[in-house]
Amino acid sequence: MQLTNKAKAVNRSPLTLMERLYFPAILKGMGITFSHIFKKKVTINYPEVTRPFSPVFRGLHVLNRDAEGRENCTACGLCAVACPAEAITMDAAERLPGEEHLYREEKYAAKYEINMLRCIFCGLCEEACPKDAIYLSETFAPSNYSRKSFIYGKDNLVIPHPQNDPEGFARAKGLIQERKEKTKQQTA
Ligand code: SF4
Ligand code: SF4
Repeated sequence: MQLTNKAKAVNRSPLTLMERLYFPAILKGMGITFSHIFKKKVTINYPEVTRPFSPVFRGLHVLNRDAEGRENCTACGLCAVACPAEAITMDAAERLPGEEHLYREEKYAAKYEINMLRCIFCGLCEEACPKDAIYLSETFAPSNYSRKSFIYGKDNLVIPHPQNDPEGFARAKGLIQERKEKTKQQTA
């Protein structure tokens, strides 16, 4: 039974001499190709050239440090609970005496991982975090050949330490601040 009238009968009549030569079809195809040479390009030479990001773009995550370089995350797990893709896993640990310069809270994430192949970049982890610890940046996950390389651990996520890399730290903090302001404008 035919449900719509969209179906078209296929023309199965034998090819004409011109159709069998194929040249007219090839020339037509070349004509279409050449006509695009003079049109405005819709592509860009990435990565040398990049497009401006949309104000609502959400990219790779970063884990924040405070001004003294201590990790903000207290491994409360709220981001993991909020994550609809179950992309976040972590192991919590107790801060030991003498580690106050490393972790801001008494509990910290000894392991923190995000599976970027699962992540849908919704930003709910950022919204759920009560410690100003996780943000989404304007960076893509670089392509790779193995699934394992898309599991980002603390070595990929935590922003640079202010003593080891003051420039990197300042840059990351600036981007986090920018992100905060954009989020505020979106929700205003
Ligand atoms: S951005 Fe969304 S999907 Fe990705 S880790 Fe955060 S909550 Fe999960
Ligand atoms: S990133 Fe924020 S919400 Fe997630 S475990 Fe750390 S402190 Fe909690």
